[in-house]
Amino acid sequence: MLKPALRRAWRGSGTVQFGVTPAHAVKVGPMDIATGCFLELLDGTRGMPLLRDEARALDLNDHQVDTLVARLMDAGLIDDVRAGGPEADALRTRVETLERQRPDLASLSVVHPEPGGGMRRLAARRSMRVQVRGAGRVGASIAAVLSGSGVGRVEVLDGGCAEPCDVAPGGLPASAVGERRDSAARQLVRRSSPGSAPRTVHPAAGCANGEPGLSLIVVAPRDGLSVYVPDPRTAEPWIASGTPHLYAGVIEATGVVGPLVLPGGTGCAGCVDLNRRDRDPQWPRMLAQWQSGRRTAVQACDLGLATAVAGLAASHALAFLDGELPASTGARWEAALPLLDWRSEPIRAHVDCSCGAGGHTEGVRTSGAGTAHDTMAG
Ligand SMILES: [Zn+2]
Repeated sequence: MLKPALRRAWRGSGTVQFGVTPAHAVKVGPMDIATGCFLELLDGTRGMPLLRDEARALDLNDHQVDTLVARLMDAGLIDDVRAGGPEADALRTRVETLERQRPDLASLSVVHPEPGGGMRRLAARRSMRVQVRGAGRVGASIAAVLSGSGVGRVEVLDGGCAEPCDVAPGGLPASAVGERRDSAARQLVRRSSPGSAPRTVHPAAGCANGEPGLSLIVVAPRDGLSVYVPDPRTAEPWIASGTPHLYAGVIEATGVVGPLVLPGGTGCAGCVDLNRRDRDPQWPRMLAQWQSGRRTAVQACDLGLATAVAGLAASHALAFLDGELPASTGARWEAALPLLDWRSEPIRAHVDCSCGAGGHTEGVRTSGAGTAHDTMAG
């Protein structure tokens, strides 16, 4: 079938454009009226033999049909309603879940050219495990979006009890105030899920002892300083285990998404710290004061910005889980109120950082076992 997500329009002179926006639009031509009519047959109800049969009524021979379908396939415009493997087949049986996720599936089908690629990735999300560290306005919303997007296991870590300022439309509800943050977030994740996660985990998901490894950690603490100045010591075990992690949060009316750290491959929290010390010799002195001083009683965290950061971070996380390297890989995106002009700054790997991304080879993992990319690359 032609991917239904892309709008179709004749551009005149026998060219058809699929899609509106430059990122995903494709022009196909030359195309005559007969082949234009043939496109109408590509609605997912016919296999190739039937397509060839019906095309004869349009004066198109088998060779023309096969060539056209091959061209459309090369252009990433063809989906296959039966492709994607056993996990995709299992998801197809869950009609309600799939109905909820139609727009997500359509989006994946636009982004990934191969037939069945969207369904394969949507199904793969169900056996992935992601940890979100922080259940405030940003963290809880990220967890809810990931769960709602079909990520099978979303764990949220945070301490203490939910306060009124943690409540957000996409995050913890007002009724959660006073409850333990972690259990309130767990309920939120469950409520947001489009369906229960599959019981059995596919071996390709990198499971050990029945529990799949973490595909990603999202660091979204309630205190935005720990995102803007991520603590290298906290990240040490993730660097050591090769676990990809993404920072996101709001600090003093500035939203931050990134970097997504691929241990040993891109700049990490330690690199951020060393780069900053190189640029600003006074930075360590100030940092010590910020960290030792009394914690700011109220975070300057606008709800709109918090929601935007959560949405952007979740989208970057999903792109990564689906096998891509989003623009936060080795970079940090920032937008400050009131102009909200998103800008990115590369986070360069520092040669003196023990993560190894800067070119030193000691301690560098040669493979990131268990990461999303390893499983997706196969
Ligand atoms: Zn580093």
